[in-house]
Amino acid sequence: MSRRALELFVVRGLNRACDLVDAIAYRPAVVRLTRRLPFFWHCQLARASITLDERWGTGYWDSDSAPPVPEGLCDACGRRAAWLVVGGSSDEEEFGDGEDADDRDFLDEHPVNLCGWCRLESLSRPSNQAELDAILAEAGERSIGWRWR
Ligand SMILES: [Zn+2]
Repeated sequence: MSRRALELFVVRGLNRACDLVDAIAYRPAVVRLTRRLPFFWHCQLARASITLDERWGTGYWDSDSAPPVPEGLCDACGRRAAWLVVGGSSDEEEFGDGEDADDRDFLDEHPVNLCGWCRLESLSRPSNQAELDAILAEAGERSIGWRWR
């Protein structure tokens, strides 16, 4: 195995190991049981993989098929690593050029980071921080409900 192939193997392997730990550590029952611990798992293996990728230049995290990069903690449950962003996207192309700045709502101005377990299921979009906080609290509680799925 060439050095390059070995580096790619290590970078990819660390991320796969991270996915395996996530599959157990992020289950609702596990998050609920470990809620009072000061420290929790948030994709340290993936971060090690990203660091080594940058050092070795394997390109794994830059490729088209790269996994999503973990971005801090989920704003809803506060325990899992965040992968998704909701809101804050009015400036992007998907909304087209015709959008008026007045149409931007609170979520557009205050994007939320979410893990793969937490979902904002409110029927209305929040219009202020208090409403957003309530929706996030509800989403966090729902995502750690007592069930093994
Ligand atoms: Zn979450």
